[in-house]
Amino acid sequence: MLRPVDYYRQKLEEEKKRIETYAQRDCEFSADATGLWQKMEHEWRCREKARRLKEIRRALQRLEEGVYGVCERCGRPINPERLEILPWSTLCVKCKNYEESHSNQY
Ligand SMILES: [Zn+2]
Repeated sequence: MLRPVDYYRQKLEEEKKRIETYAQRDCEFSADATGLWQKMEHEWRCREKARRLKEIRRALQRLEEGVYGVCERCGRPINPERLEILPWSTLCVKCKNYEESHSNQY
């Protein structure tokens, strides 16, 4: 069973705020990252965050549209347990795995 929309909205907003706060701090910190590895790791982390923020925004949009919890690809409901852990999911596990094995672009 899905929880009320407000429950997910709150979770998403909290995560968004958390990422935005840390993203800023991390990007400042990186200014004195000297080694190549450090720079690469930092870049990766920034990209991951940007991607997560995008996912969160999309999930919020889907909440507004009333299609939250429905897989974007196959249209089946996403497992509520998955949404509990990853509330920004817009794909079910099956489709997510499929996408990951069929695309290398991030
Ligand atoms: Zn699916």
